[in-house]
Order: sequence, then C-alpha cells, then structure tokens
Amino acid sequence: MNVNKLIQNLEARHPGEVEYLQAVREVLESIEEIYNENHQFEAYSIIERLVEPDKVHIFRVPWVDDNGKVFVNIGYRVQFNNAIGPYKGGLRFHPSVNLSILKFLGFEQIFKNSLTSLPMGGAKGGSDFNPKGKSNMEIMRFCHSFMLELSKIIGPDTDIPAGDIGVGTKEIGYLYGMYKKLSDEHTGVLTGKGINWGGSLIRPEATGFGAVYFTDEMLRMNGDTFKGKRVALSGFGNVAWGAAQKINQLGGKVITLSGPDGFIHDEEGITDEKIDFMLELRASNEDIVKPFSFEYSSAKFYQGKRPWDIPCDIAIPCATQNELDKQDAENLVKNGCTCITEGANMPCTPEAIEVFHRNKMLYAPGKAVNAGGVATSGLEMSQNAMKLNWHAEEVDKRLQEIMTKIHVECVKYGKEEDGYVDYMKGANIAGFLKVANAMLDMGVV
Ligand code: NDP
Repeated sequence: MNVNKLIQNLEARHPGEVEYLQAVREVLESIEEIYNENHQFEAYSIIERLVEPDKVHIFRVPWVDDNGKVFVNIGYRVQFNNAIGPYKGGLRFHPSVNLSILKFLGFEQIFKNSLTSLPMGGAKGGSDFNPKGKSNMEIMRFCHSFMLELSKIIGPDTDIPAGDIGVGTKEIGYLYGMYKKLSDEHTGVLTGKGINWGGSLIRPEATGFGAVYFTDEMLRMNGDTFKGKRVALSGFGNVAWGAAQKINQLGGKVITLSGPDGFIHDEEGITDEKIDFMLELRASNEDIVKPFSFEYSSAKFYQGKRPWDIPCDIAIPCATQNELDKQDAENLVKNGCTCITEGANMPCTPEAIEVFHRNKMLYAPGKAVNAGGVATSGLEMSQNAMKLNWHAEEVDKRLQEIMTKIHVECVKYGKEEDGYVDYMKGANIAGFLKVANAMLDMGVV
C-alpha cells in the first residue's frame, strides 16, 4: 500500500470530501506497516475495497411545518461495510450534514464496531434537517417521512440505525413508530429506544460512561486516577452529560461545558444538581449553555470561544468533529493538561494530534474512547433478540468489560519501544485486522 497514491486516487474520485479523506488518511497511515507485512491484503485489494462504501442511499424527505408550508431535506444512509455483522451506526440530524461527513463517520464506525468485539458492521446516516426550534409535531412529521424511505433498506439483520447529534430518544420513537407500522413487526431495528418499548437501561449515558471508563484505564496504567482531577469537557449532549456524571462519581471535577455559541467555566465544578438543571434546559429544546451562567454565579459564559485555554488536567472533547485545533492543543500542553480523550468523533484535527504525540501525552481517539455507545446498542440488540431486559448493573458491568478489552487491544497494537502507547495506531490496527481477515475469509465480494 502506498498511502499518498491511495489518497490521491480517492481525492480525484471524491473531490471536496474533506472529512472523509481526513478520516481515511488517519487510518491508512496507522495500518500501513502491518498491511504491507501481509501480502494477502494487497493480493485481495482489501484497502481499496474497504475505503469505498458498499452502498450509498440518498433520498428526498418532504415534510410540512405547523403553518402548512412544505419543506424538502436530503436523507442519507451510507452502508459502509458488513463483513463482521449487519450494518450499524447512528443517524445525525444537523444542518451541516453532507455526504463527506457521513462517509467519514461511517468509515470510522467500521473500526469502532470491530473494536467492541460484537458482530456489527459500519454505517452512518442522517439528514440536513435541523430539529432545533422545531415543534414536536414538525419533528414527528419529518421523522415519519424520513422513515418512509429508510425502511426500504434497513432490518434487524440488515442494518440497525441509532441516534447521533440531533437524534435522541424522541426522534428514535417517531422513526420506530413509522417503521413498526410499515413492517407490521416489533423488532429491534433501531437502538436507543425508550425503556418501555425495547430500549436498554444505561444506553443514554453509555457513550459518556464508556469514555470515562476508557480514560480511567489509561490513567490507571500510568499509576493515576480521576480523583481530584480538573476535567474540561465540550458540548452538552448525550455524550457530555454521561461523561460528567461518571467523572463526578469517580472523584473528578468537571469545570467546562460548551455549545455552538460559547462555553461556560465553573471552577466550583458541574455537580450532579447542575447536570440535572442543564438536562431540564436541554429537554425544553432551549439554548442551554448561556442560561447556566445566569442560574449559577460561580459559572462564567464566554461567547464565541472554546474551552481549551482553561487550565485543566484532562480534556474530553464531546461536541463535534474538528473542534480542537493545533493552537488549542498547544494551549492545553502549556497549561499542564496531560490526558486528552475523544468523546466525540474526530474532534481533534490531525495537527492537534501531532502536538499530543510530540509531547508524549496520553491521547486516545474517538473510535476507541466512545465505542461504549455502540457497544451498548449491541447489548440492546441482544436483549431484544432474547426478549429480555437486563438490570442496569448488568449492562454497566458488560460495558465496563468491553471498554477494558478495547483498552487492552489498543495497548497491544499501539505500544512503542520506549513504552509510549500510540492509542490511535493501536485502535486502528486492532479494528482493521478483524475486518480485513473476515474479508479475506469471504473472498472478493
Ligand atoms: P448531541 O446532539 O446530543 O450533543 C452535541 C452537543 O455539542 C450539544 O450540546 C451541541 O449543542 C454541542 N455542539 C454542537 N456543535 C458544537 C460546536 N460547533 N461547538 C461546541 N458545541 C457544539 O450529540 P451527541 O452527544 O450524541 O454527540 C456528540 C459527539 O459524539 C458527536 O461527534 C457524535 O458523533 C459522537 N458520538 C455520539 C454517540 C452517542 O451515543 N450519542 C456515540 C459515539 C459518538 P447544541 O445542542 O446547542 O447544538
């Protein structure tokens, strides 16, 4: 494999798909050495087949607002690779959604799902629809229209979507309702369902919990823990609130949270009571970050800024892709931060990651750190198939075991001669090998 040549060919074939090409380059650079050691991979063009999605579905989604006005959004489902199990990956509803972003997310999902050790292939989907500021009826009409098309290509053994940015339990409910009506069956075709109709306990907080379990493994391997640590988080969605809760439980202190319009810094810590207040604001579909600083005098709101120049011990970006750049990384280093783990997908730019590696910091990528979300979705699928509901403790125990195993795999493939662990390399190699070997077993299909 020649990484530069492969990327050049992809650029020519998919011009302008910046995020997708960024994600592919990162994986190729990590696996190049191990790939070239196995002539079978080259002989079967494993990488050429892996970087192109199996199928890309694009469809029109018409819907009617509360005033009777008709709107049209674009719907997507990128079914990337199903070598180790049915397609699995979330749906994102956000105005920034385009094919490049969904291809980057779908590509990452292949390796993440492989790392969980559960039988799940990689996919991603969504729409440029913005649920922010819409009424429940508008969101419902949009979701129903979206599912009219999506239902044709998903199924409990084919493709099992879940939530992501802009798609929580409410949206999953509307999507599931329409799927159930169209198919006349109540099967686990979506995950992230409500607890009363097939959802799993712990799923809402699983990504954040898993991210903290993984970070805890990294700290412990270096003789450290969360106790007394000041942690900077970004975002305040599904991933961030679960992470904040678990950090508090482990004795750390969360000092920042953010939204698209700025961040809050609260040196007294985001306690469980403050998390509950923010969840209330979130449920009301309001701007959540700014009002926090009106409610708590210890919190200060910084308009239009990101939290990465606030001194902290650990940083966990949990909002969106490319939200932490080289300058932010240098600020973190300068201010004494020693550990950065990605709660979101690809939140750190390649230049920021270069800074972390150069300074031998503890750094781990989203595909390992946030894999607890999809892993718990896998556990939801198992419960649905068995027609059982596990207790919260049972799900949490399995989640912890999975995160520990992912950490072991990352260390196995990422440890360098001087003892430094390149978690990015470890995660990419471990995730890749399982999928590549499955593809070899199945021949050229
Ligand atoms: P949510 O929509 O629940 O939360 C995203 C949060 O980030 C919101 O608080 C949002 O604010 C904020 N945000 C959005 N854009 C920006 C920005 N440019 N700067 C700062 N804050 C911003 O999404 P999730 O928590 O589900 O997802 C967050 C990340 O984690 C994504 O990268 C997602 O792909 C990834 N992920 C999610 C999983 C899950 O289980 N949910 C699983 C694995 C990965 P606002 O609401 O005001 O827009």
